[in-house]
Amino acid sequence: MKVHNVELVISAVRPEQYPEGGLPEFALAGRSNVGKSSFINKMIGRKSMARISSKPGKTQTLNFYKIEEQLFFVDVPGYGYAKVSKKEREAWGRMIEEYITSRDVLKAVVQIVDLRHPPSDDDCMMYDFLKHYNIPCVVIATKADKIPKGKWEKHRKMIREELDMEAHDTLILFSAETGKGFDEAWAELERRMQL
Ligand code: GDP
Repeated sequence: MKVHNVELVISAVRPEQYPEGGLPEFALAGRSNVGKSSFINKMIGRKSMARISSKPGKTQTLNFYKIEEQLFFVDVPGYGYAKVSKKEREAWGRMIEEYITSRDVLKAVVQIVDLRHPPSDDDCMMYDFLKHYNIPCVVIATKADKIPKGKWEKHRKMIREELDMEAHDTLILFSAETGKGFDEAWAELERRMQL
């Protein structure tokens, strides 16, 4: 998809605030600093749209970005940030759970992981949590530019195995630096919009 038009419609904390209109949604999840904002910005062709309020310590909200009047990216606050208190962690969990269990326009959660490393315990917990609620998942393994091409397939396999990914969930290698995976990621999202 060629994106010209992006609008941050609302930063929501409660279901009553989620946008109406029935457009398909993709929620974006990943541990802090994994490259989630860079992924979003690359996909929407912006330099710094998804940076505000996604940083640790800022208000934890679900940011609904309307794209081309056709779909929403819902930016979920990053997880696994060490300095977050237990109370904040619990509030985060409730907010995500409330969203993914109640949102019928949610087409898939796009989970961002780092291609270079085995998924963290938090990554595995997130994936298990989504599977527990039967949420389709597209895993984006980003920062592919940071490892040699010859190692990509080995790392792809490692991530699939460590997350214990279901066969129908897609794994896409990505780089916000080079644009690798951009077309594949959009094709996958557009396909899922029709489902
Ligand atoms: P977030 O906290 O998950 O939103 O992570 P950011 O998007 O802010 O990225 C964290 C750091 O990783 C930043 O320094 C980015 O420049 C860097 N980064 C993100 N994606 C890539 C990528 O695909 N390749 C490389 N080389 N660096 C990346």
